[in-house]
Parts: sequence; C-alpha cells; structure tokens
Amino acid sequence: MQYRKDRNGNNLSILGFGCMRFTKKGGGIDIAKAEQELMTAYRAGVNYFDTAYVYSGSEAALGEIFERNHIRDKINIATKLPQYLIGNRAALDRYFQEELSRLRTDHIDYYLMHHLTDVAMWEKLKNIGILEWIQEKKQAGAIRNIGFSYHGNTDNFLKILNDYGWDFCQIQYNYLDEVAQAGRDGLRAAAAKGIPVMIMEPLRGGKLVNMLPDQAKKAMKSSGRSWEPAEWGLRWLYNQPEVTVVLSGMNSVEMVEANCRTASEATAGSLTPDDFATLEAVKDVIREREKVGCTGCRYCMPCPKGVDIPGIFRCYNTMYTETKSQGRFQFAQTVGLTREPAFASQCIRCGKCEQHCPQSIPIREKLQEADKALRPLPYKIGIQAARAFMFRKTR
Ligand code: SF4
Ligand code: SF4
Repeated sequence: MQYRKDRNGNNLSILGFGCMRFTKKGGGIDIAKAEQELMTAYRAGVNYFDTAYVYSGSEAALGEIFERNHIRDKINIATKLPQYLIGNRAALDRYFQEELSRLRTDHIDYYLMHHLTDVAMWEKLKNIGILEWIQEKKQAGAIRNIGFSYHGNTDNFLKILNDYGWDFCQIQYNYLDEVAQAGRDGLRAAAAKGIPVMIMEPLRGGKLVNMLPDQAKKAMKSSGRSWEPAEWGLRWLYNQPEVTVVLSGMNSVEMVEANCRTASEATAGSLTPDDFATLEAVKDVIREREKVGCTGCRYCMPCPKGVDIPGIFRCYNTMYTETKSQGRFQFAQTVGLTREPAFASQCIRCGKCEQHCPQSIPIREKLQEADKALRPLPYKIGIQAARAFMFRKTR
C-alpha cells in the first residue's frame, strides 16, 4: 500500500474503503462478508474507511466490526453530517452523538458536511452556528479533521473551498467526469491550498467496469497493458499527485485484493501518452453510446411517486452500452417486476428529483425518453401479464 499525507502529515492509504453499499442479507448488511472484506483491506494497509449517517446500517456495521477486531485506533473513520436534515443547532449534536454511538467511538477522524451542492447550503449551516460547533468539537478532540463532500458545479465548489479553513474535501472525479462538478480545476485549486482531496465515484458507481462497451474493453486490451478496466480508472486517479485518497466500494475479497495491488503499484505521473490515448478512445466509445449520464448516486430518491429513477436510467444505458434486449431484460427484472410498481409513467413531473441531481440531468424529460425505449408496446403487455400472474391474489 502507498500512502499520501493529510494536512497534519498523517499517512493515509491512497485506497480508501467506500462503505456505502455492502452486500445485503435478510434485510440488513451481511456482516460476516463485510467483515471479511474490511479486514482484508485493513491487513493490506488500507487505513481510511468512509461512511455516512444515511448509508443504511453502514456506521453500525463498521462500529461492530472495528470493535470486535480491536482496530479502531489503527484506522481513520470518515463519516458525514446529514446537513440536509439539520434545521437547528440542537440537531447538530443529536446527529453527531448518534453517529459516535453507532460507530462505537468517541471521535471522528474525518468529518464531512455531506453533499453540499451550492454555497446556499453552506450559508444555511453557518446561520445555525456550524462554525462555532466545529470549533468546539475540534477543541474537544471529537472531530480531528473537518471537510465537505461536494456535488455542485465548479464555481460553487471554489466559493465553499475558499470560505473556510477546511482540512480536506471530497469530490466526484473519474476519467469520464474530468470536467464535471468540482472537476480537475476544483481538484487542483484544493491541492494548491494544501487541502487533501478524497475521490468518490472513481469508477462512476461501477459503470467504468460493468457497463463498459466491448469496443472500449478492446481498446484497453490492445493497449499492451494487462490492466483490467477498474485498474485503468484507479491508475488514472493515482497518476495525479493532487489526489489523496481514492474511495472504492468493494463487494468481494477479490475486488479488495485487486484494488490493493493497484494501490501498491500505481504512482503519480506514471501514465504514458499512449495510456492517455487509450483512455481517450475509451471515453469516445462510452459517450457515443450512453443516453443519460446518471451515476446511480440516488440523491434524487425517493421519488414521491415511487419511480425508480436510477434503475430506469441504468437499464436505458444498458440498451446502448450492451444490447437492447439486455437493457430490457434488466428492466423487467429490476424495475418491471417489483411488487411496488416503479415505472416512469408514474411520474407527475413535480421536479423534486431534478433539484437534487448532481449531474443536472433533465430527469423528467429523460424518463419519458427511457420509458419509450424500454417499454415498447409488446414489452408493456408482456410485463403487465407477468405482473398480473406474479402478484395475483392467492387464497
Ligand atoms: S418529477 Fe417525476 S420522477 Fe421526479 S420526483 Fe417528481 S414524480 Fe418523481
Ligand atoms: S438521476 Fe441524478 S441524482 Fe438520480 S441517480 Fe442519476 S445521477 Fe444520481
């Protein structure tokens, strides 16, 4: 494992464990499996674990696993204040205490304002006294480093970055999103101020692996490198010295081992012009085919009418990055045949979802487009018949 420094000179593993999506079992997290994955990462030198108040069951799972394995003091926990749920100063303490209790700890190493998308959100927090609260918590040693995770545009990112003496920040960044959100300019601005940058969505929610078109995979294969698609994505990030920690959600021990291997080899400045040319070719293929730039972050959810927005977009994109029938098959499985219907046709165009989409996707318009493509008449009839059969009333 390689390490890069935080503001105080502490070593952080360049691979961090993103703890948003552990494998589920019986309605909760499969703790035994998560423990195996987390401990494999720990033993390989990973010392940064990122969770959040709203990642269902994640904080409690980490608390349990770290306590059982006696490693709390050997690792760094990053978690997040659900600032969008906070209306007053008392709520700050309430949520923070709950997080400490779930994580079975008396301090958070890296604490973030979760999901800021513009300056107004930060101003709202300042108005309820967040600055004094942070100071108190830092003085008491309950928060070691303070930062924010960000999903808005570059301008607002720079304003928030420059408004306060942050210890670190977290941005969405990958080779497909080099200029989206905070982007390369935001990354470099933070690094220029000496602020460590943690990277989320390094593989665009797995899309740069699972939904990579064959032609893009071919471009990678014919490059002469033996790297898998995930490794290309991670190496592109590690190549940039401004990147401090890359967070990866890892759902198997094999994935943990592969990512740890990459994080022990890839150094800043090691990609060649040929490597960049390969990635350009890959990007061209992906952009040509994708219909909606949805990362699957789910910030638009829940929809009041039950529309599965990211699910529908994922299947719609699959129609173009894989095959039409594959996209429609996935749609039938994951959206069409769920007990609670989640079709785009349920949308009442309230626009709530669009206010939260970090990718600024015109969701209402794209949902209509996706629905047309995913459910041509014969499929609509087929899905209706299958639903009627599956959910028929039985005595
Ligand atoms: S616009 Fe449609 S999809 Fe979006 S939140 Fe409203 S009902 Fe749901
Ligand atoms: S539509 Fe936007 S908010 Fe919803 S999952 Fe996709 S990228 Fe995220």
